[in-house]
Amino acid sequence: MNSKVKPRVVIVGAGFGGLNAAQSLAKAPVQVTVIDRKNHHTFQPLLYQVATAGLSPGEIAAPIRSILRAHDNVEVLLAEATGFDLDRRVVETAESNIPYDYLILAAGASHAYFGHEEWEPFAPGLKTIEDALEIRRRVLLAFELAERQSAAGKSDLPLNFVIVGAGPTGVELAGTLSEICHHALTHEFRAIDPARAHILLIEGGPRVLAAYSGDLSRSAQEQLQRLGVEVRTSTMVTQVEAGAVCTGNTHLEAAVILWAAGVAASPLGKKLGVPVDRAGRVLVQPDLSIPQHPEVFVIGDLAAAKDQHGKMLAGVAPVAIQEGRFVAKLIRRELKAAKADSRPAFHYWDKGSLATIGRAAAVAEFGKIHISGFLAWLSWLFVHILFLIGFRNRLLVFIQWAWSYVTYERGARLITGSTDLPGWTQVRQSAAAKPAPEEIHTGSAK
Ligand SMILES: Cc1cc2nc3c(=O)[nH]c(=O)nc-3n(C[C@H](O)[C@H](O)[C@H](O)COP(=O)(O)OP(=O)(O)OC[C@H]3O[C@@H](n4cnc5c(N)ncnc54)[C@H](O)[C@@H]3O)c2cc1C
Repeated sequence: MNSKVKPRVVIVGAGFGGLNAAQSLAKAPVQVTVIDRKNHHTFQPLLYQVATAGLSPGEIAAPIRSILRAHDNVEVLLAEATGFDLDRRVVETAESNIPYDYLILAAGASHAYFGHEEWEPFAPGLKTIEDALEIRRRVLLAFELAERQSAAGKSDLPLNFVIVGAGPTGVELAGTLSEICHHALTHEFRAIDPARAHILLIEGGPRVLAAYSGDLSRSAQEQLQRLGVEVRTSTMVTQVEAGAVCTGNTHLEAAVILWAAGVAASPLGKKLGVPVDRAGRVLVQPDLSIPQHPEVFVIGDLAAAKDQHGKMLAGVAPVAIQEGRFVAKLIRRELKAAKADSRPAFHYWDKGSLATIGRAAAVAEFGKIHISGFLAWLSWLFVHILFLIGFRNRLLVFIQWAWSYVTYERGARLITGSTDLPGWTQVRQSAAAKPAPEEIHTGSAK
């Protein structure tokens, strides 16, 4: 480390982890370079709202440059990291190699198709703003195509929406889709009845929201069923194709299929050349650094880190935030001459978990306190508004939610891009000529 210039901290990824690390280093005697392949930070917990036309992208994302503009020692580069040379201490990008004294790798994770990447075009997952807009396009387009087909007297089969994976993302997508069908779109179509749409949530494991305790899982499933979602647990998807999902011998036709199962860490983790787990997460040391390289930290969804009790930490925003702040604190401490071999271990403070299901439906687990329904939903609303980046976004989202709570409206119902729906022509037009396929039964809708 050259003592005449300030040490350089390079942070790859401006998600929850990277951004919090950068902000915590703002006043430290270091130069910080934040590299991200997007120009914006995305508040991923609200992506489903963009996917279901409740919010617009600008309300849940903000330019990284603008978030960090007050910090003179922080620069932001729009670039994709492609690899590392740990001996020379550089991050490789297509344009240049960026040297570092400390590296914080916070490149996150994405959805995984259990080795069936060919399913992705038929069943998009939700990770980025682009994914959310594609899901919104498909969902809204399905209603338009059904209306057009029905108006032409060709078919009035109900629309099927299939969501694979009943973790928090699958649950919130299913609940909100049901709300759209039963409320937001009523009175707007003439040839079809959107409320006849079937929402099916398929889960390979025995219960929905498996990370929550059994009573909250059961409550979440009941709340989903009340919203009109059919839930099939212990059901493995064996094939996804244009307009259809197979579970064993059952072939389910679907106008829209959404993928909310499986997580794979960013491929950047493997490029460090240190051990990773099955999901590609880097097996970090207790101080979140990697073996033999105390100057390299991995945080957030890309890190396989354990809590103080030896339990693997979940890929959630609070973990990434606390890890980002922790490594920034370690770096600041070492700049004041503390030795790397005297580092404390990372301790996670679990403040609880919240998952929303739909309008006035949610579950919350704060230690031994378990809440379901309206109160859990209010807590969820409060926390998500509080943590949104920027006062403007907080205000806008609050107004949007208050408005749609009263009116049931969803204000961002724009179909942008192509008007092709994968599987529509293959399945719907031939279905119109065939006897009805297996019926997907709804729960007790309103
Ligand atoms: C749909 C959805 C809903 C969620 N809901 C919740 C919730 O309700 N509560 C909760 O706590 N958590 C939720 N999560 C999880 C939470 O968002 C993640 O745990 C958190 O974002 C992880 O933060 P991170 O900093 O590790 O990665 P991310 O926030 O994913 O950020 C990674 C960043 O790295 C950048 N990047 C990736 N690769 C490169 C590269 N090669 N070069 C340069 N930049 C790169 C990306 O552009 C991105 O900005 C949700 C996630 C999703 C997808």
